[in-house]
Amino acid sequence: MSIDEAVVKRAAGLIAAADALIVGAGAGMGVDSGLPDFRGEEGFWRAYPALRQAHIDFYNIASPAAFFESPERAWGFYGHRLALYRNTTPHSGFAFLKRWGENLPHGVSVFTSNVDGQFQKAGFDPNRIHECHGSISHLQCLEPCCEEIWSADDFQPDVDEQNCLLRNPPPVCPHCGGMARPNVLMFGDSGWIASRSGAQGDRQAAWLAKVRQPVVIELGAGTAIPSVRHFSRYVTGKFGFGGRLIRINPNECEVPNRQDVSLKTGAAAGLAAIAEVLGDVWK
Ligand SMILES: [Zn+2]
Repeated sequence: MSIDEAVVKRAAGLIAAADALIVGAGAGMGVDSGLPDFRGEEGFWRAYPALRQAHIDFYNIASPAAFFESPERAWGFYGHRLALYRNTTPHSGFAFLKRWGENLPHGVSVFTSNVDGQFQKAGFDPNRIHECHGSISHLQCLEPCCEEIWSADDFQPDVDEQNCLLRNPPPVCPHCGGMARPNVLMFGDSGWIASRSGAQGDRQAAWLAKVRQPVVIELGAGTAIPSVRHFSRYVTGKFGFGGRLIRINPNECEVPNRQDVSLKTGAAAGLAAIAEVLGDVWK
C-alpha cells in the first residue's frame, strides 16, 4: 500500500500544531503487534479452531452466559487471550505516539476499545488511558455479588489450546467464593462492573476540558463496534472540542471534514510514515 506523501505531511502538520494528542485505538491497532482481530467469523475461527468445531462464534463465547454454561471453555478463551497479551510486545507505533505526546503542552490521552493493556505495557501513563470496554488484566465476580474489581496478576491460566479449555481452576471471587470473570464488557452483559472504566473516563473528561486544540489519531477503529469512532466524533465534531482528526485505517478510512486527514494503511505503517516527516520538525 503506497502512502501519499502530501497527505502524510498534512498529518504531521496537524500534530505539530496541536496542544494535545488523543489516541483513539480499535482492534486494528493490535494487528501489527501480531494480535488476532476477531472481526468476521473467519478471522475469529482461524485464531480459535476448537471453537469452529464446536460452532461457537465470538458473540457466543464473549458473553457471561458462556461462563455460566461452560466455565472451562469460556476461561479457555479468555485465559488464552490473557496469556497472549502478557507475552505480546507493542509494535513500534506505540513509541511514536508516546514521544509525540511528550512534545505537546498537554501531552497525550488514550481512548481504546481494546482490553489488552498494550498502552500500559508501552509505557503510557495509566492515568491517561480510558479503556471503554474494560481490561482483561482485571477481574470481577461473575454473579456479581459486589462492585469490587481486582488485578488478574495472581492468576496464571493453563490452557489446553487445542480444545480451548482451561486446565487449572478458574480464579474465584474473594467475597463469595464464586467464579471470577474478566472485567471486560461482553455481549449481552448486564453484570459488567463499569466503575474502573468510568473513573478513567472522568479523568479523561477533566483533562479534555483543559485542552484547546486537540488532534485525534484514530487507529484501526471500524464501524462494526463504533465506540472509538463515536469518541473521535465527540472530540472533533461540530459540538465537540474543535479538534482535528487523523484516521489511519486500511479499510474504512473516510473522514468527515476536509481539514481532516485519512491514511488508508495499517497502524504501524501509517505512524512510521508520519514519524519520518515529524522527525524533521521535532529533532
Ligand atoms: Zn462474588
